[in-house]
Amino acid sequence: MIKAIKGTRDILPPESALWSRVENTAREILALYGFAEIRTPVFESTELFARGVGEDTDIVSKEMYTFEDRDEQSLTLRPEGTAPAVRAYIEHQLQQESSIAKLYYLGPMFRRERPQKGRYRQFHQIGAEVLGSDNPAIEAEVLEMLQFFLKQIGIEDQTLLVNSIGCPVCRPRFLEELKRALAEKKVQLCLDCQRRSETNPLRVLDCKVESCQPVIDSLPKISEFLDEACRAHFDKFLGYLTSRQIPFTVVPRLVRGLDYYTRTTFEITSGVLGAQNTLIGGGRYDGLAEALGGPPTKGFGFALGLERILLVLQQSEKQVAAGPAQLFLAPLGEAAFEKATLLARDLRQQGIRCLLDFEARSLKSAMRLANKLQAQYVLILGETELQTGRYLLKRMTDGTQREVREVEIPAALRGVAVPVSQG
Ligand SMILES: [Zn+2]
Ligand SMILES: [Zn+2]
Repeated sequence: MIKAIKGTRDILPPESALWSRVENTAREILALYGFAEIRTPVFESTELFARGVGEDTDIVSKEMYTFEDRDEQSLTLRPEGTAPAVRAYIEHQLQQESSIAKLYYLGPMFRRERPQKGRYRQFHQIGAEVLGSDNPAIEAEVLEMLQFFLKQIGIEDQTLLVNSIGCPVCRPRFLEELKRALAEKKVQLCLDCQRRSETNPLRVLDCKVESCQPVIDSLPKISEFLDEACRAHFDKFLGYLTSRQIPFTVVPRLVRGLDYYTRTTFEITSGVLGAQNTLIGGGRYDGLAEALGGPPTKGFGFALGLERILLVLQQSEKQVAAGPAQLFLAPLGEAAFEKATLLARDLRQQGIRCLLDFEARSLKSAMRLANKLQAQYVLILGETELQTGRYLLKRMTDGTQREVREVEIPAALRGVAVPVSQG
């Protein structure tokens, strides 16, 4: 038997309906905030990610699906969506269209991570990028949007963590101090951190290993090294959050694993899955466009993992089940079946979800099937009904029945009062 590849999975009904609901809600809310969709290819030149994500990140060094095409060009399945979006922005000179571009994307990403609960090698992200502005008010607006989105899909338990990681002007001094402090405490660090303390010291702050935590807590904090411009930017950002009544916590050790981030960085976590889990991460990346060979472009964005969001939704009580069929059509006999096919067509064109029974069944087994399919109503079409033009409509929740004429069916299903016909 051929199975799905390890680390990938099929998203089956009824779970797929929940996915659609989350995606549709995201699209609606992103549109409310002026974001337009961008669809970039699933594979790109490997160089894009090497430059855009950074050679010494885990993503680029260990996790990418990279392959040589038939013409020996090195290609990579996209491990994230920001570098492709910015590549497209530069390539199509979108900065000329308007001073600010607000783009969002939605789709599969690929990383060869160790498979674990809620983590897949093909996973799905929704992300958005604001290109062309370094106004902290835009950052606050994006966070307001994300808070609204999570509430709309039913995730109330959310915590916003924020930090500023400075800029190329002020960060080097911090990194120097950080390296010095790490060198002193090197023996107390895990092996990964010992390596990182030289290659990418910022990433030590990210370490989850228990024994590294006291060391991390004692390290110098970037907030003490921000220059005036970065300090002012961060203070304004926090002020805008406060005036929008968005609660937040400043977490000095919150840094991003990707090299191109500058200034504002954030995470939204939720405790629904037990321990606090990151649902959304993002921040400012003013250096990325230039790193990709484009003009200097300010950028701010986020990405959210749909698998994580879905896990949370499946845990929470508020989960909305996939919409069951509204109406199950149960024709009895060949002539009734003919009629039912036409009736189903007309009702569907009026926006009514219909399921048509294609098998010749007894009324009893048709009702059993309708029940299993969670149909809200069953319309019974027998020979008598065909002749009189009056059909029996049964409400499955309480078993009440009424006779309806064809034109009355949509109103009856929508719960509009239709006089109950007698006999
Ligand atoms: Zn700075
Ligand atoms: Zn460590």
